[in-house]
Amino acid sequence: MADRTYHSYVDDLFGDEDDILRETRAAIAREGLPIIHVSPSEGKLLHVLALTIGARRILEIGTLGGYSAIWLARALPEDGRLITLEIDPHHADVARWNFVHAGLDDRIEIRQGPAAEQLKAMQGGREPLFDLVFIDADKPGYPEYLELSLPLVRAGGLILADNALPKAVLEPESDNPLVRYNAAVAGHPELSSVIVPTLRDEMDGLAISIKRAA
Ligand code: SAH
Ligand code: MG
Repeated sequence: MADRTYHSYVDDLFGDEDDILRETRAAIAREGLPIIHVSPSEGKLLHVLALTIGARRILEIGTLGGYSAIWLARALPEDGRLITLEIDPHHADVARWNFVHAGLDDRIEIRQGPAAEQLKAMQGGREPLFDLVFIDADKPGYPEYLELSLPLVRAGGLILADNALPKAVLEPESDNPLVRYNAAVAGHPELSSVIVPTLRDEMDGLAISIKRAA
């Protein structure tokens, strides 16, 4: 057996995957998608955060094979809804299969296309507000996804961003998009934010922002 690490300890104890989640990861690997989904314990963190605020409507930016979406959707009530945005048709197909397999296809809607276009189409009250947005797509898009997500989230709702602690945060003058994203949420008058480290082989983190009442 492999040596225990901090993250394998937390994944094993709290990342309580069932067969569906294990099979979702297996399908992602079998279909040749990159293995860049959240870890089991980060999936659990997303799930717990969604439960904490009683989320009924969730928006995910970056579906891959649907692994994080399943963790999030399992926090929804039966009449809740998760919309997930994905640019790659093959990724969307694999995710669709996984959502059916998980019995969640009635609660999850995949919108295929570039996320920025999808988000622009949702502006102006065309989409009911979301309780939670999870940003986890192309990193250069993060600052724009934040701007476009803010009007779509209710007061008291959460905006979460994965991979918020790349090595670039240690470089003083970095223009890395995550460095810009983190500075934007830290300085935003409508948001209270922090980064929680996520346990992986390499350091990384989840940026958590709550939208305050205006
Ligand atoms: N949230 C997933 C992982 C997402 S990986 C999980 O943890 O299970 C990032 C995904 O974003 C990839 O599937 C990639 O195809 C998608 N993506 C990249 N650029 C995008 C864009 N401009 N619009 C929408 N999706 C994009
Ligand atoms: Mg990620």
